[in-house]
Amino acid sequence: MKLLYEGKAKKLFKGPDKGTVIQYFKDDATAFNAQKKDTLQGKGIINNYISSSIFQALDQTNIPHHFIRRLSDREQLVKEVDIIPIEIIMRKVAAGSICKRLGLIEGKALPKPLIEFCLKNDVLGDPIISREHIEIMQLAEQSEMEAITSIAFRVADFLTGFFSMIHIQLIDFKIEFGRFKVSNKTHEVILADEISPDNCRLWDIKTNQKLDKDRFREDLGGLIESYSDIANRMSIQLPELKAEK
Ligand code: UDP
Repeated sequence: MKLLYEGKAKKLFKGPDKGTVIQYFKDDATAFNAQKKDTLQGKGIINNYISSSIFQALDQTNIPHHFIRRLSDREQLVKEVDIIPIEIIMRKVAAGSICKRLGLIEGKALPKPLIEFCLKNDVLGDPIISREHIEIMQLAEQSEMEAITSIAFRVADFLTGFFSMIHIQLIDFKIEFGRFKVSNKTHEVILADEISPDNCRLWDIKTNQKLDKDRFREDLGGLIESYSDIANRMSIQLPELKAEK
């Protein structure tokens, strides 16, 4: 398979048909802009299953996305897009960088969902940017930003309900969008990348136990157990969590 791109947690390979790509989920875990690194056996498998299941569930909504189908334990087939270099962060409860930046107390519910934008640039450490930066740097068109914002709030609503059904509180999450070529002249902005406990903060509703990547960031241990717990609550039957070949 032809490798197109390798990121921190995934590899992208050329897909079988034109306009398709294979996303391969690795076991690598990174935090703090890759200053902290480890390999957690099976993480990629669990994230592939969880993300596939969430994107499939999105089919019940009118949220446009890149997911086609899961191909294997670590691979999924997706539509080929040009990723828009903006990370969209949606927050329902204060945690992580917003607490450090603004002095908010972790766990404080925000009065309404908050959208933030970061420049997708590891060298610069993904700095937070405003709509004006996006316009001046020509990262996305005004109409694309309208689509991104509207979809992001719908994803937040959808995920809040989805996780609350399995007794999990959605704290925040990061999503990415891509431009999908519809014809030579036109493209559509669609949800891309992954939705998994690597890029959502998820707390048990009763105990507030952290079930997401903060277990790795904060050295809490038990990451694979927590991710498996989420998969289990989603009624996913996980395969054996074998190491990567
Ligand atoms: N996030 C992510 N990738 C990033 C930065 C953040 O997936 O490069 C996710 C993170 O897992 C959390 C949300 O976005 O669910 C908000 O992250 P935050 O800005 O608090 O950054 P952190 O302090 O986690 O680096």
